[in-house]
Amino acid sequence: SPAPNQSSTRQNVKVVIRVRPSNAVEMTRGDTEVWEVDNDLRRVGLQTDYCERYKRQMTEYFFDEVFTGSDNKILFEKGVRDTIRSTMEGYNGTVFAYGQTSSGKTFVSFNLYYYNISIIRKYRTNSYPGVIPQAVDCVFDYIRECQEKEFLLRVSYMEIYNETVRDLLSPETEDLRIHEDKRRGVYVSPLKEVVVSTPRQVLKEIMKGEGNRHMGSTDWNERSSRSHTIFQMVIESTAKNSSPSASHRYHPTGPKMSGASVSLSVLNLIDLAGSEKATTSIDRRKEGAYINKSLLTLGTVISKLTENNSGGHIPFRDSKLTRILQNSLSGNARVSVICTISPSVINLEESQNTLKFAARVK
Ligand code: ADP
Ligand code: MG
Repeated sequence: SPAPNQSSTRQNVKVVIRVRPSNAVEMTRGDTEVWEVDNDLRRVGLQTDYCERYKRQMTEYFFDEVFTGSDNKILFEKGVRDTIRSTMEGYNGTVFAYGQTSSGKTFVSFNLYYYNISIIRKYRTNSYPGVIPQAVDCVFDYIRECQEKEFLLRVSYMEIYNETVRDLLSPETEDLRIHEDKRRGVYVSPLKEVVVSTPRQVLKEIMKGEGNRHMGSTDWNERSSRSHTIFQMVIESTAKNSSPSASHRYHPTGPKMSGASVSLSVLNLIDLAGSEKATTSIDRRKEGAYINKSLLTLGTVISKLTENNSGGHIPFRDSKLTRILQNSLSGNARVSVICTISPSVINLEESQNTLKFAARVK
């Protein structure tokens, strides 16, 4: 439980760490696993014998929750569920996975295994549903349980690659721009928004988006590790029996509905580009510069938000990612940060950078 002197803004940001198990390559190579994870103390630390052997300084980090293994359900319960439920109650919410490529971001975010839809059948062998399908279930469970309100949900899916925004649900759309107005806050337009009423519909849209993400990229894995995706769900709720004016309801760029009984919030589920340092070729360096800039800005933005009484300048405009997320990373927004770590000694430097990011945003 949080210390009493922690500010409320601090509690709005939850930081969880997941150290994944060694993979086949790491095991074949015989990599040393260097991280020790203590669930009860919520601590991630470098193993002592490793420190002695390599004369490294003992490093320890404490977080809201720390996990090893593959159980995405417990991770969701402890680290993400509250954020999702808050968005159903009218707060904006953001959930993202941060870490180097192959540290487990997609594993923890996606894994859309369990809906019997043909286009996602290939994912069904996976028995660890990620944060996204669990969040979707959580949203619809909430709606089912909620007697006194009616909900309208619409989803969109974007990719940011080299600071260019692309609509993954409508890939031929060009010239997506970021707009801001008083009532709606910051939003992207023209952006396809799809009204959804079942979990299956939501996952179907995500899979369509994933399909479009493959389009036009020669090396899909390469590209996916260098772009950010934002899956957005806009949640509108009205008190039942309050006869909302239907004409406003489905207009994505229309005004927030007037009247006290209506609330509008946005949930963002994000798969970030890999946080690793850029490699050598010139294109790569350009991509790397963009990625590093947006991840750095993300860290700055969140850490400013968690500082007490921070009245200073918050650099939302320094990257498309933070600009688009502006309303979902400020004010009363709820944020879950999942930092993913490879256990191997080979990735030690990057893992430490990830833990530094995590410590910074907390
Ligand atoms: P990233 O998205 O960060 O690049 P991935 O999620 O694709 O990394 O993970 C890399 C590989 O490791 C994948 O084959 C994935 O299935 C596996 N993996 C990642 N995290 C776990 C975990 N917690 N348990 C088991 N396998 C995992
Ligand atoms: Mg990935």
